Amino acid sequence: MSEPVDPSGLTVGIVGGGQLARMLALAGYPLGLHFIVLDPAKDACAGQVATQLHGEYDDPDALDELARRCDVVTFDFENVPAAALEHLAAEVPVAPNPRALGTAQDRLAEKTLFRELDIPTPVYAAVDSREELSIAVATTGLPAVLKTRRFGYDGKGQRVLRERADLDAAWAELAGHALILEGFVPFTRELSILAARSADGTTVFWPLVENVHTGGILRLSRAPADAEALEATARAHAQAVLDALDYVGVLAIEFFDVGGTLIANEMAPRVHNSGHWTLEGAETSQFENHLRAVCGLPLGSTHAVGYSAMLNFIGRLPEPGPFLATPGLHWHDYGKAPRSGRKVGHATLRTDQPDELEHALARLQPLLAAD
Ligand code: AMP
Repeated sequence: MSEPVDPSGLTVGIVGGGQLARMLALAGYPLGLHFIVLDPAKDACAGQVATQLHGEYDDPDALDELARRCDVVTFDFENVPAAALEHLAAEVPVAPNPRALGTAQDRLAEKTLFRELDIPTPVYAAVDSREELSIAVATTGLPAVLKTRRFGYDGKGQRVLRERADLDAAWAELAGHALILEGFVPFTRELSILAARSADGTTVFWPLVENVHTGGILRLSRAPADAEALEATARAHAQAVLDALDYVGVLAIEFFDVGGTLIANEMAPRVHNSGHWTLEGAETSQFENHLRAVCGLPLGSTHAVGYSAMLNFIGRLPEPGPFLATPGLHWHDYGKAPRSGRKVGHATLRTDQPDELEHALARLQPLLAAD
């Protein structure tokens, strides 16, 4: 066995200074870790709790400084230029590795990997011209979803095609980007799995999470999902992806559940919004285990402590006052300015019994309606 690492005094660099970087830092201080985030934004919210380097993600001087000042580097969003991570990886350990990031950045590469690993996906075809769009529709049928291969998130860069007449408008909007057309999946619900893998291959999984999206943005997660029969398959799929990419850190995979069959939608090579409940609802949070993995520390238990629901606050934060006294409620204000469509905070409700959770959640409906 290798020598145990002493985390005290290690400095973790994070490319990106959003709420995920902020929650990573807050989870890492009790372990004795230090943090430096790289973000060009003056008001990056992780900059309120960690040292911030102000610089573009592809600025070689900023990347060199980050590498020089950190023991290991990770990232908090998947649109970091792959070349920037390669640059960093030449100077400092980077986890997850640039290949994992590159695969997750491209919906076509991601689905190709899923297929190679026998993980079911929607029917899909690459689309690079209007003619290819017509040909692809013949493969997927209608309805279908036309998506940009890169830089899409929270439902951005995608159009649902319901009839042939929709093709021209969708093409006019998305032409110029490399695209992928996917068959529309008539799912019964959406589930995600989060896993953390260490460099020695040790892997831990949190229980499946059930997610509700509105307008492509996650609004509500419940964990553990009532999905015992699907846990083993979801874990096997995640393990296959983690091993194939020699992955270190937390990975999330989003699935459609179609009558008991899991169809993989996409993966995120980072801590994920559907894992925020783990801060209070699991023995070890996704943030802490991501840090443990990238720093070479043993992973902690992912055991769920009771039942949790996570409510996302989009656009603006509701007044916490009327809700803070709710037993089991935990408030997270990301310190971000309000803006339409922006994730500005979340709340987790944790209870010991599942029926208590549903009762308490019903009383929190105004929080879900807030926007
Ligand atoms: P994505 O950015 O790919 O995660 O898509 C955002 C949301 O759009 C998903 O969580 C689904 O609710 C919906 N969606 C995306 N792709 C499909 C699909 N092929 N079939 C049905 N719904 C989809």
